[in-house]
Amino acid sequence: MLILIAMITANCTGKKEANTNAGSSNPLLQKWSGPYNGVPPFDKVKVEYFKPAFEAAMAENMEEINRIVANTEAPTFQNTLEAMERCGTTLRRVYAVYGVWKSNLGSPALDSIQEEMEPRLTAFSDSIVQNAGLFKRIEAVYNDSANQHLNPEQKRLLERYYKNFVLAGAKLDEAGKKKVMEINQKLAALFTKFSQHLLADEGDKFLELTSEKDLDGLPEDFRAGAAAAAAGKDKNGAWVISNTRSSIEPFLTYSNRRDLREKAWRMFVNRGDNGDANDNNKIITEILQLRAERAAVLGYPTHAHWRLADKMAKTPETAMNLMESVWPSAIAQVKVEVGDMQKIADKEKAGIQIEPWDYRYYAEKVRKEKYAINQEEVKEYMQMEKLREGMFFVAGELFNMEFAQVTDVPVFHPDVRVFKVTDKTTGDLIGLWYFDPYARKGKRSGAWMNAYRDQEKLNGNITTIVSNNCNFIKGKEGEPVLISFTDATTLFHEFGHALHGLSSKVTYPLLSGTSVATDYVEFPSQLLERWFTTPEVLQKYALHYKTGEPIPQVLVDKIKKSATFNKGFTTTEYLASALVDMKLHLAGNIKIDPDSFERATLAALHMPSEIVMRHRTPQFGHVFSDDGYSAGYYSYLWSDVLSADAYEAFTEAGGPYDKAVGKRLVDHVFSVGGTVDEAEGYRAFRGREPSSDALMRSRGFKVAANP
Ligand SMILES: [Zn+2]
Repeated sequence: MLILIAMITANCTGKKEANTNAGSSNPLLQKWSGPYNGVPPFDKVKVEYFKPAFEAAMAENMEEINRIVANTEAPTFQNTLEAMERCGTTLRRVYAVYGVWKSNLGSPALDSIQEEMEPRLTAFSDSIVQNAGLFKRIEAVYNDSANQHLNPEQKRLLERYYKNFVLAGAKLDEAGKKKVMEINQKLAALFTKFSQHLLADEGDKFLELTSEKDLDGLPEDFRAGAAAAAAGKDKNGAWVISNTRSSIEPFLTYSNRRDLREKAWRMFVNRGDNGDANDNNKIITEILQLRAERAAVLGYPTHAHWRLADKMAKTPETAMNLMESVWPSAIAQVKVEVGDMQKIADKEKAGIQIEPWDYRYYAEKVRKEKYAINQEEVKEYMQMEKLREGMFFVAGELFNMEFAQVTDVPVFHPDVRVFKVTDKTTGDLIGLWYFDPYARKGKRSGAWMNAYRDQEKLNGNITTIVSNNCNFIKGKEGEPVLISFTDATTLFHEFGHALHGLSSKVTYPLLSGTSVATDYVEFPSQLLERWFTTPEVLQKYALHYKTGEPIPQVLVDKIKKSATFNKGFTTTEYLASALVDMKLHLAGNIKIDPDSFERATLAALHMPSEIVMRHRTPQFGHVFSDDGYSAGYYSYLWSDVLSADAYEAFTEAGGPYDKAVGKRLVDHVFSVGGTVDEAEGYRAFRGREPSSDALMRSRGFKVAANP
């Protein structure tokens, strides 16, 4: 459930149409044409265009920056900060399209471009933040801000630029800057390798099932998906379980074959950890050491301290305190859950102790026994397309937006659909929403949102283009795609990110949409998940795929009653990853063996033996495929404190569709992007500081007397 954030400096380079490439025939360098303020030329892209496009766009951007630096007038907000915001458009456009080819359409040809270009792009962005002349101008404006007559948004912009530059090393001497640049170069190459190894382990390894006996317990539609996956590998007549979360988790939930569950589980949790060509352990050791070294050069005790300096949590200690306050309740709950499961296993005379490959399987049996909920029965009401309409309904009620499909823009794959988003009252264009729901070869796993273009007003009324991407399994032609309850939650989650982008009403590109602190960015998306289970959505959009009947109230009541079901498991598997992430980055400049570090850390935490980390270190893409979520995986918990607390603002008032609360949410959270300090924005919405009580309640944990 990621959100893809472009490199800081690609964004901080602003906007101005330069003439350098006016005559170029490379479509990636052209201004986006067509309706809706122009759209990405997805129909004209060839992989070989990326390298020359990046080269030309970087050259153009460099020229723009040089012009700002060479300006003989005294530095002002307008001739420095606003000027920065006006340049770099071409580069951002190339990045937007490249991002799609990287995440949605991966290929060996793109791999080699990535390997060559990522370090060069990193070097380029370093050269901007380390440009002494440029920083001198920014610093001059920063120190003179009292005389610049800035409005609050401009003050934020100035602060963000100044902080971004300082955090990236703008104040270092030449030797320090050179060192940081070298480290960033090495890291960029290692990040690429890490991701490619992971993708290879997910794509190349799989579980092949050859007889009906191997399918024991698997639902019909899952079998069909596995048969289709086998056909895709020229293994007609067999069934293939891919080594991705969307295939493995249902397999572990339903397969009656304990031996195969164990096999699948081992394959999945050992991604990147097989001692072969795709092993990530050495890479991780190097990444951690380089990060620690860089933090030291930048004047921070650890990488975690450096990363959190501009986050809402501000320090690793604050983030650790929150995680450690929730952890004991989570593992205590696991004991209860395992007890329930063991009882069932004993009753069945299975003669087993619950192992990690049994957890999902017996949890499902507990769900059926305790709450009488059958996931497959629920799934029959979870038609992806209907739920999409449900999301549009929520967007209409809370955000006054209307969605309508359009076919007059190019897409990068026939499965992608585009929707025009307008204001329900005025009909004004708000933006475009691209939807790429299905898994395919070369597409990274998981679900994510990204923005192809940010909303801004500096260069005219520029509307945003956002996208949601998932990995649902496409069913048979003409049949509705049914998704699990969890997948439906993910659908709403990513749509929350999209609405965050679409609601943006800011002036400057750098502060637009989802460009907020990473421990705040999951708050709007996690909050939106909660509308999925509102009666308004379930009754109108959770319709049976055969009868069209809405989901029966008894089933809804059961779902509600089971809301805290398995929360020990989900909280523990997540927190274990978040804690290991933070501890890895608090360890300082030592040589870390990921395997033994992970084992020792989990042992010290008394990690329940029946659960494995959601992302084990060798496959922790959030943390090792770029710097983005490094020392930042705690963000999901941090954000969920906010979303649980924020949702209670609705339930304390007139309910989830309360207009007044909804308006406050849009005004202070969804529309402001990075123009307001995150803590301040939250206070303005809620009328007080956030409290973690709501989070504990929502997970069925005891609320401490003194939180
Ligand atoms: Zn997310």
